[in-house]
Amino acid sequence: MRQALQGSGAARGNALGRARVREPHALEVAEERITADRAAAELQRLHAAIDQVRVEIRGMRTQLHGALAHEVGEFLDLHTLLLEDPELLHGLDELVGKGLYGADYALRLQRDRIAAVFQKMDDAYFRSRIEDIDHVIGRIHAALHAHEAELQGVAGEILVTDAVAPSEIGRLQAQGVLGIVTASGSTLSHSAILARSLHLPLIVNAPQLIQQVNDGDVLIIDGATGAIVVEPDAADLRAYRARLREEKRERRQLNRLRREPSKSLDGIDIRLYANAETREDVAESHALGAAGIGLYRSEFLFLQRDDVPDEEAQFRAYRDAVLGMTGRGVTIRTLDIGADKADSTGLALRHEPNPALGLRGVRLSMAHAGLMETQLRAIVRASGYGPVRVLVPMISGREEIVTVRRLLARVHAALRADGHEVAEHVPLGAMIEVPSAAIALSTFIREIDFMSIGTNDLVQYLLAADRNNDALGDLHTPLHPALLRLVHSVVRMGRARGIPVSVCGEIAGDARLTPLLMALGLEELSLHPTTLLEVRRAIRGLDIGALRAGAPRLLRARDRAGIARWLEAAQPARTAG
Ligand code: PEP
Ligand code: MG
Repeated sequence: MRQALQGSGAARGNALGRARVREPHALEVAEERITADRAAAELQRLHAAIDQVRVEIRGMRTQLHGALAHEVGEFLDLHTLLLEDPELLHGLDELVGKGLYGADYALRLQRDRIAAVFQKMDDAYFRSRIEDIDHVIGRIHAALHAHEAELQGVAGEILVTDAVAPSEIGRLQAQGVLGIVTASGSTLSHSAILARSLHLPLIVNAPQLIQQVNDGDVLIIDGATGAIVVEPDAADLRAYRARLREEKRERRQLNRLRREPSKSLDGIDIRLYANAETREDVAESHALGAAGIGLYRSEFLFLQRDDVPDEEAQFRAYRDAVLGMTGRGVTIRTLDIGADKADSTGLALRHEPNPALGLRGVRLSMAHAGLMETQLRAIVRASGYGPVRVLVPMISGREEIVTVRRLLARVHAALRADGHEVAEHVPLGAMIEVPSAAIALSTFIREIDFMSIGTNDLVQYLLAADRNNDALGDLHTPLHPALLRLVHSVVRMGRARGIPVSVCGEIAGDARLTPLLMALGLEELSLHPTTLLEVRRAIRGLDIGALRAGAPRLLRARDRAGIARWLEAAQPARTAG
């Protein structure tokens, strides 16, 4: 029967295909015994997984809305009750603590025990609750193996699942998956960023999903709006085809701008750089006339493998990006693993209580012996093939950038001494994404050659709003007076010191926000190539001088509504082409 569901559109694109549902489920687990001295640690591991599932379910519960909210809410409440069930928990503790079974096997035994009790019941309703036990046990199992479980997709189908990790996205696309819909997740997560980069339609934050979609159901998904139609009817199919035609028409129009300058109505040239995660992004950026790569997220090189790429492997990747841009310049950001970008290389710490505030970015690169040095060597070697800059993520103050600067100078000198052909000067820049760096910019601005404002994280840290938590709704928003004032002050200081400033967070690629960034004085943006032509079109329809003159009014706005009103009035007429 036809049903319409709603999630949040995270990566644009339409897809029509059969659903392949991947629920977390209890796997067949072989008997595993542990020694008595491991029991305490095993219990701790198990309870951490149970806690994580509680948090996940609570998160999904708060996101429910719409017609099915009540029904799905009850189902989730039942799962919460099961997770609190003394019978289940006590049994698990006994099996691990006294029986000395591994956590996985204890889960399996406990599942079978409880299922046997339910099976004996006369009432069909209670018997059917075995499914819930399986679901809950499966979730705990998945949490125990969050970093190992490999999500598999099927070519030509739409994957429906609980959550998807950035490290899985590339593989799923390569397997030919048409699109992904997840029950949890946020549009600013790195999974979403990567899906956009790979043109893989993704819808996140659709908590009713797992209950409402069955394996083999036909789905239509719209990654722009987050709309999901299960078992579409004739009208849905017509609407889908109409959307495809409209998309094609829009693409054709935008493609005419490939060779046009990003120049405003009043003649101001804005440099549009591209954010790249993959080799394909580099090729696309070049073809669309990007001024260069403004943010090459090097961590995606690390996320696609099980080991840490050595200097040679990194060098080849960076060199190829440089060659691909034929002299237009590539800004390579050093590794930003950590937080949601947990890797399969084993570099990122697991189970940090507060990963976004933990060992990520430059902190992690400097914590591992040789990691930063190897990466800098690879980047500097790539500079022999075309202009390259180094960008350092998560700078929070002067010490970090000074340390990296010294290391860069040492690496540069050593490579030259060894006879490598490298650029005379490899500029060093800082991501401005930790509020302390923006506020205390004057303390280290002399140490850097350029800066790039990472608004995804800057908003997260400034507003204490987790970028990966969709339950926060509008709280993670760039339309906040604190953010606008901070960005404006960074841009002003950059201009006063002759240090180029760009914005490379997702807002740079949102054409509706282009007037706002122009008013704040930005002259460079770095954005995903899929959005480059839209932003170019927006710029070509703007009078930037007038917008800058309106900046004081924008900066006086007191709340989101005030900023939104300013923005509404500043939208360009859609005539420029
Ligand atoms: C940002 O934080 O805005 C940014 C561009 O970096 P990332 O999204 O990779 O954290
Ligand atoms: Mg960031």
